[in-house]
Amino acid sequence: MKSPAPVDSRRRQSAVRTVSIFGATGSVGTSVADVILQRRGEFEVDVVTARSRVEELAAVARRLGARLAVIDDPSRLDALREALAGSGIEAAAGSAAMIEAASRPVDLVVAAVVGAAGLAPALAAVEAGIDVALANKECLVCAGELFMARAEAAGIRILPVDSEHNAIFQALEAENAQAVETITLTASGGPFRSWPEEAMRRATIADALKHPRWSMGPKITIDSATMMNKGLEVIEAHHLFAVESARLDVLVHPQSVVHGFITYCDGSILAQLGAADMRIPIAHCLGWPSRGAVATPRLDLAAVGSLTFEKPDLQRFPALSLARYALESGSWATNILNAANEVAVDSFLGGEIAFLDIASIVAESLDAAAGSLGGSAIASIDAALVMDAEGRRIAREAIGHRLRIRVG
Ligand code: NAD
Ligand code: MG
Repeated sequence: MKSPAPVDSRRRQSAVRTVSIFGATGSVGTSVADVILQRRGEFEVDVVTARSRVEELAAVARRLGARLAVIDDPSRLDALREALAGSGIEAAAGSAAMIEAASRPVDLVVAAVVGAAGLAPALAAVEAGIDVALANKECLVCAGELFMARAEAAGIRILPVDSEHNAIFQALEAENAQAVETITLTASGGPFRSWPEEAMRRATIADALKHPRWSMGPKITIDSATMMNKGLEVIEAHHLFAVESARLDVLVHPQSVVHGFITYCDGSILAQLGAADMRIPIAHCLGWPSRGAVATPRLDLAAVGSLTFEKPDLQRFPALSLARYALESGSWATNILNAANEVAVDSFLGGEIAFLDIASIVAESLDAAAGSLGGSAIASIDAALVMDAEGRRIAREAIGHRLRIRVG
């Protein structure tokens, strides 16, 4: 396991920290804004971005006193300008503006876009030498080796926002990185943890969106229901902590109190516990290496009563095994896994395919891609995005095939 770099003196000294938030209107983005507003005076916001919701973007830009708001959809630029009128906040639109915005000099970029769409801006921030607080796990699933290599070359920090990885980051003793035996990520088990397979077959979109513990955006909520989220997180942990698949465990822990733990070679286990509230890991990243106050519900262990842990059921949640298979197969496979999963989740949310079809589509896509792409390396962002596009094409074809069979 890689030893964490020593704390940069820059981070110890700066009084006001400048932050840009990519995906500022989403679930994570909103929690980031909340922490910043709770700790006004500690942070200045430079850039906020969103995909297409101009009103929400303008509102968060005004609330945070941002300098620049960028909307991904270029056709929404005039609407954004109008929504920002009189505020003095600059407006920009489109993917080139997004990259430019990610390269502006700030202390920290929060990567909270959902999906591989966030890879280009996050990588631009890395290459501009800016520390990144990473929620957007798909960046690492799509192009983890490239991403981490560029981060190392630029000498920047990736601070994990994802609650399990943040827990591991907190439990990691810099001087004992070599003494780590295993890393365990916990999973709530999602809404179908105790559903029989037969019932899962008929699960509706509403059933799948009913997460028992966390309130999150729709894509990750569906990923939690299939447990693909935990699979993506195993891949994310592999890249963040340079630990191989065999030493990365997953345990289902329905109370979502223990977010992750490290087992050291002397048998000691160090864990991080907290309420299931993303503002806790977000505050940790924003203030790191210092801890600052944040008003969140405090964990009341007496009220929780008991903590339970169980092995995941790989039969009912095949997405977990698929992710592990992809991790062990190489970058091409995790890239395709991610692309196919994004397409399949969209298709499920669009009412086209059934819940259990999500993992089947991913499996079929991995299978179909193995012949042409198997073993391919990802040496550049263009290569990652070309492969991602191919994964999406293959997955759409698999869905089309399924729909034709159903109609025919
Ligand atoms: P969300 O759907 O609520 O928000 C996504 C944000 O990204 C929005 O601001 C949206 O405008 C923007 N966006 C979406 N597509 C875009 C595109 N093509 N181009 C530019 N911007 C785009 O998602 P979320 O739940 O906040 O999750 C964000 C990321 O954080 C995901 O990678 C997710 O896996 C990860 N994460 C989320 C949580 C959580 O509690 N929500 C926890 C851990 C990790
Ligand atoms: Mg997580």
